[in-house]
Amino acid sequence: MGTRRDFLGKMSLTALSLPILYSPTSLFAACEQPYDGPMLRVAIMGLGSYGTRVAKAMVDCKRAKLVGVISGTPSKILKWQATYDIPQKNCYNYDDFDAIKDNPDIDAVYIITPNALHCEQAIRVAKAGKHVICEKPMAINAEEAERMVNACKDAKVKLLVGYRMHFEPKTVEVIRMRQAGEFGQPKFFQGQSGFVMGNPNQWRLDKELSGGGAMMDIGIYSINGARYMLGEEPIWITAQETKTDPVKFKEGIDETITFQMGFPSGAVASCLSTYAMNHLDRFYMTGEKGWVEMQPSTGYGPIKGRTHKGELDQPHSTHQTLQMEGMAQLIFEDVQPLVPVDGEEGLRDLKIIDAIYLAVKTGRKVTV
Ligand code: NAD
Repeated sequence: MGTRRDFLGKMSLTALSLPILYSPTSLFAACEQPYDGPMLRVAIMGLGSYGTRVAKAMVDCKRAKLVGVISGTPSKILKWQATYDIPQKNCYNYDDFDAIKDNPDIDAVYIITPNALHCEQAIRVAKAGKHVICEKPMAINAEEAERMVNACKDAKVKLLVGYRMHFEPKTVEVIRMRQAGEFGQPKFFQGQSGFVMGNPNQWRLDKELSGGGAMMDIGIYSINGARYMLGEEPIWITAQETKTDPVKFKEGIDETITFQMGFPSGAVASCLSTYAMNHLDRFYMTGEKGWVEMQPSTGYGPIKGRTHKGELDQPHSTHQTLQMEGMAQLIFEDVQPLVPVDGEEGLRDLKIIDAIYLAVKTGRKVTV
């Protein structure tokens, strides 16, 4: 396996070669063709609900395979070993996983734990010399995200964030249309991201583990969506918070935030992030020459959408399968998605979240 390790090392050093961009169908085409290249061997850290979804989706990947687990619950490890044929030597807990550095059979660790744990876990994985794939939000503030970016740079490993929508075909088509000028100059984005949060005792409502409320968890989709739908970075932000249930949503856990962003071209965005309303998974963007509406826009799909030219009819495939296939291509072949999924991309969203929280706290327009 030494040669494979050398290969991976070289890949991370040469990843600055010219990127090849996806078309909306190229990932499907790649998935359908026979493949006998390198396999991205992944260990999942955090065997909870989303980790389980990713593991199931990876069964259908050609370029990525689940080969290891990191968990604090021995009974879960045993179950996953049986389900996915995972050898004992690839199983770790949260105390001993630094030893993964001596395991040549694992290339990357996918961190799918509560948000506030991501930063330190990612830095430990990077120090172990493994590529880091980290769930969104990649951390709970920009300062942590910057430390993660630097740690991965220092260790010469990739840092990728689980932005599955960047691999989703209808979303990719809309980005392609925007880049090709088919909407003209984008003028306005509206993003609505929310659902009614159930169990009041879960980590998502505990600031120590979540870092915040709906904004960290679901509002981030409207932030990221505004950026990839408009193709610009915001320069100012205003935001307002509403809380109807201060018992369930304690200090530091935002229930509902409306926020507005202004962009250098003059485009504006108006968004809603909430844990208190259902049926909110909708993006709308209008430009000088056309428009797009997506609803649902970021759920597990199928995504539905239409533009001034008609229905978006790109085929649905499990998002997490496409994402892991795409991330393996990114690592081995330097095939880049139209919008990056790297640490800098995750950092941009966290800078915006920091600014939104500051705008809520001060009532002022915040410059990003
Ligand atoms: P979950 O509660 O279902 O799973 C979290 C896992 O982390 C559990 O297995 C738990 O045992 C483990 N864990 C380790 N240390 C812990 C600690 N100190 N306290 C609590 N749990 C601990 O949560 P989830 O829904 O799987 O979310 C995990 C991450 O995945 C979050 O960052 C979330 O934002 C992200 N997520 C992303 C998507 C997406 O579509 N990209 C969807 C859902 C969740």
